[in-house]
Amino acid sequence: MKRLVSTGRLIAFGLIVVMLITLCVATLYKLQIIDGAAYYEESVNSDPTEESVTAARGNILDRYGRVLVSNRECYNLAISDKRLFSDDVDDPNAIILQMINMVEAAGDKYTDDLPITKEPPFEYTNMTDIQRMLLNAYLKDKGLDEDTTAVELMSYFRTRYDIAGSYNAEEMRKIASVRYAVNVRYAINTNPYVFVEDASIDLISDLMGVVGNVVEVETSYIREYNTQYAAHILGYVQAMSDADMEKYRPGKENSTYDYDTKVGKDGVELAFENWLHGTNGKATVERTASGTVTSTIYTEDPVPGNHVYLTIDIQLQEAVERILETGIQTLQLKRDEDNLKAVSEGRTDDVREDIQGGAIVVVDIKTGEPLAIASYPTYNLSTLLEDYDEISSTEYDPLFNRALLGAYAPGSTFKPCTAIAGLSENIINTETQILCDGVFTKYSDQGYAPECWIYTQDHLTHGNDNVTEALKDSCNIFFYTMADNLGIRKLMEYAEDFGLGESTGIELVETTGNMANPDNHLTYDVDEWVDGDTVQTGIGQSDSLFTPLQLAEYCAAIANGGTRHSAALLKSVRSFDYSRQLYQKDTEALSTVETADYNWAAVQRGMYLMANDISSSSLTVYYALGNYSYNGVSLPVAAKTGTSQLGEDKTNNAIFMCYAPFDDPQIAISIVVERGQSGANLSSMARNVLDAYFGLGDKSSTADSEYTLLK
Ligand SMILES: [Zn+2]
Repeated sequence: MKRLVSTGRLIAFGLIVVMLITLCVATLYKLQIIDGAAYYEESVNSDPTEESVTAARGNILDRYGRVLVSNRECYNLAISDKRLFSDDVDDPNAIILQMINMVEAAGDKYTDDLPITKEPPFEYTNMTDIQRMLLNAYLKDKGLDEDTTAVELMSYFRTRYDIAGSYNAEEMRKIASVRYAVNVRYAINTNPYVFVEDASIDLISDLMGVVGNVVEVETSYIREYNTQYAAHILGYVQAMSDADMEKYRPGKENSTYDYDTKVGKDGVELAFENWLHGTNGKATVERTASGTVTSTIYTEDPVPGNHVYLTIDIQLQEAVERILETGIQTLQLKRDEDNLKAVSEGRTDDVREDIQGGAIVVVDIKTGEPLAIASYPTYNLSTLLEDYDEISSTEYDPLFNRALLGAYAPGSTFKPCTAIAGLSENIINTETQILCDGVFTKYSDQGYAPECWIYTQDHLTHGNDNVTEALKDSCNIFFYTMADNLGIRKLMEYAEDFGLGESTGIELVETTGNMANPDNHLTYDVDEWVDGDTVQTGIGQSDSLFTPLQLAEYCAAIANGGTRHSAALLKSVRSFDYSRQLYQKDTEALSTVETADYNWAAVQRGMYLMANDISSSSLTVYYALGNYSYNGVSLPVAAKTGTSQLGEDKTNNAIFMCYAPFDDPQIAISIVVERGQSGANLSSMARNVLDAYFGLGDKSSTADSEYTLLK
């Protein structure tokens, strides 16, 4: 072991040396090649200026030390407004257009954050926070009305920036976008405008050859994504908005932020901003009058950010995202076929809506740690800001993280909670039988007589079931009776202990959903709470809305005998040189459900039979998961399906949860598919997730060895 540690340190040290050498070479390169390319070689030094030196942001890694997000050094091109608008330049608009055309001809993109369509008719596009902030600031600064239209603003630009009528509409918009970008940042004294981020050396020298010192080169860092997956978890960084400025107070005393520091905007980048962001240094820089740097003296060294390790297993995450996408596409193809058939046979009532999206969450049963959190549709993080308008206007909202923000009626996946409540409160014992004769008639004099699904579907009944059989059969009558005897307050207590409608402890933005209750019923319904609402709550209907993450942690608590762990994503933090561990996660129990072991056994057995008994409520589930094994090793699964009704004319949401192996549970899985119609439809996705998890085997030996050493 000792040797492993010292090798790790050695490699870490080696990496730092390599980084330092790279930095020196890059700096020399910048001084000699890039700045040397400037055409003016003047020897007169301007006054030395105090400049900020950007600190690298920390890396984001998965639980096995695989790097998910890191930094790459890059060159940014800024526009010197001093030189662009000096007497030497006859026509700044012509130079701007020339520069944009050169950038585009080189296949690069310039920073176009004018939130107006590229071509007429001009309209505002969907805006990021920054775009909105800049636009509002611009309108205010120029004394323009808040509801100035895009067309009005474009004609204002033409006059204000003296853009000649000889330019066509597209050219005019290009010129205006840069004039606007430079002008608004100057007006509100915010971070300077970066004309091209991450410019290639070829582009830099071409541009300097043509427009000279109108452009300035700055070294910076750019976030580099080493995975195309986990977009909703990782989040992104961007320039500060108004709210960020207030929070991080750039330029103010004791603030470690500069105006141009990019900050976490979503996901992990936002949640762990404090760990990830570094502290910029300072340097005294001397330049010639033409801008060539002649000396740089560091007065404060930059301190890079720390490295953040997540509980996520990126290999499993990637597999789960692919399974979710393929699973949904397969269901949609089948849906299309069924709909065509229904139409051709004149059964228009059977035509179902399109599937809108879904989520899969996989958690570790012993610790509650999320191992994979997938939401579909999704997007590519590395092009999010470039493609923001397109992504944010795509059908079914790819930006929406359904796993944490989507709240869904749990349907029958709630029945194990009702069962545990009934057993713990001695409403029943594990042997008590309740008769299903198809209809729950207790409140029929009030016009409320809900049916068992098997009665509605086939005019059959379940007869006498004990709690284990009732879970296997998913008998509604059993759980209507249970809920009615428990009362809503008792049901609410158990749901709370299972974390349903509660925060999960994850550090990302999540919704807590809602556990049905009389106190806020009127925000969901026009009628007062009645006994029937309690009865409906027992089978996961009424106002209950839970997230896929809550359902996965609830399933884990059923599997481990009642401990609900925190779903915190942060596993550990290491210093920027990997030498020191600054944080290590402890497994944390948020709540426990206390009941006798034989009660747990009865409920777990019911979920086991749901997947493994041919007479269970779903043959589809039985065929997908019955007698599950991987590589010849038997790994039995316990499962529960759910179908949540959204009202007439709407196709049901499909819900599914399971855990495995039954005898020594390791992982719990929840799956939700919007308009998926039936929970059983999701069982083959669950099987694929189990295959992926068990197929990854001993993860510690498959992780890339160099990263393992750095753990
Ligand atoms: Zn029944």
